[in-house]
Amino acid sequence: MEINRTHKRIKRLNLIILIILISACKSTSSTEGSISAEEFKQLPKIDVHAHYKHSRNYLSDFFNRWNLKAMLVDVAIETNDSIVRSFDNYVAHQRLLPNDFYLCTTFTAAGIEKSDYIERTIAQLKKDIEQGAVMVKVWKNFGMVTQDSEGNYIQINDPRLNPIWNFLVENNITVLAHIADPEQAWRPLLDPNNPHYNYYKNNPQYHAYNFPTMPSYEEIISARDQWIENNPELKIIGAHICSMSNNLDAVSERLEKYSNLSVELGARFGDLAMQDSEKVKLFFETYQDRILFGTDYGTGKPEDQFSAQDILEEEQDLEQRYKHLFNYLVREDSMVLRKQNTKGLGLSKTILSKIFNDNFLKFLENQTNPSN
Ligand SMILES: [Zn+2]
Repeated sequence: MEINRTHKRIKRLNLIILIILISACKSTSSTEGSISAEEFKQLPKIDVHAHYKHSRNYLSDFFNRWNLKAMLVDVAIETNDSIVRSFDNYVAHQRLLPNDFYLCTTFTAAGIEKSDYIERTIAQLKKDIEQGAVMVKVWKNFGMVTQDSEGNYIQINDPRLNPIWNFLVENNITVLAHIADPEQAWRPLLDPNNPHYNYYKNNPQYHAYNFPTMPSYEEIISARDQWIENNPELKIIGAHICSMSNNLDAVSERLEKYSNLSVELGARFGDLAMQDSEKVKLFFETYQDRILFGTDYGTGKPEDQFSAQDILEEEQDLEQRYKHLFNYLVREDSMVLRKQNTKGLGLSKTILSKIFNDNFLKFLENQTNPSN
């Protein structure tokens, strides 16, 4: 009898423990998929792809409000006879708000045939790193713009660039690589609802379809892949979801193949929104340690060229645009994003922390200053 009663008690105890365990599991899984609006606001965030070239009085408060920092990414715009960079602007802005910004420098392949090209380029990178740059961007000049004296386009896997990659590996400096454009650039503009329609309509100079002598999308992407493969020690962040944002299967294939590759989301949320949200969510879950939040937002002209009203509207617009992207990642409701009807991803707090902050901070570890 006694034994039986004890048995029963043990059974009951087991049942109670089981119920507690089940409810504990339930409560973890139900809170993991969501984060309160206030909690999200407090979550540290880094926009790894921004172009705040000119200061704004509102920016610091705006960044503080969202616990947001941004990487100021320099771009080298190359025309026939000149290269225009904005690094000095970015340095000045970073000096003004050192707690809000990081710096990313850049270089091009212009002059690659000259004997001092490598020496000059590495010297420039050293100087920029000394001024605070923690990353280096390579832009679509590689593959789409810069040509040698015989008219050949210089691809990113050109072996003459190898000493530069080795220099970056030695100092643990990450490359943010915007190589090629979205596939849409090589295709005719037929669908006004395509997320890239307006960009190429307004910037025909970047619509590769108009320039049949330019290398194909496939050729540039294949050179880019070869470059990633040739430099397994080089840490690479593929900007704009590796210029394959319309095809997450192709991105996954690269992430599986190249362990030195991560991706950044800037200006490609429309492509994500075009794809099935469940599939996109699975992509984020699978590669949660290798995805970084970015926007491509920036300020193109100095504040004094605008009226106070314009600036107020700019601030409101900027906040709306950030909020819209945040909502897509955080919430699960139906929404329209870049003309696409979609559903928010409702990512867990763990994943949000990684893509907004932790993954970026890992790239800063073990960097050395080459001048030391
Ligand atoms: Zn950009």
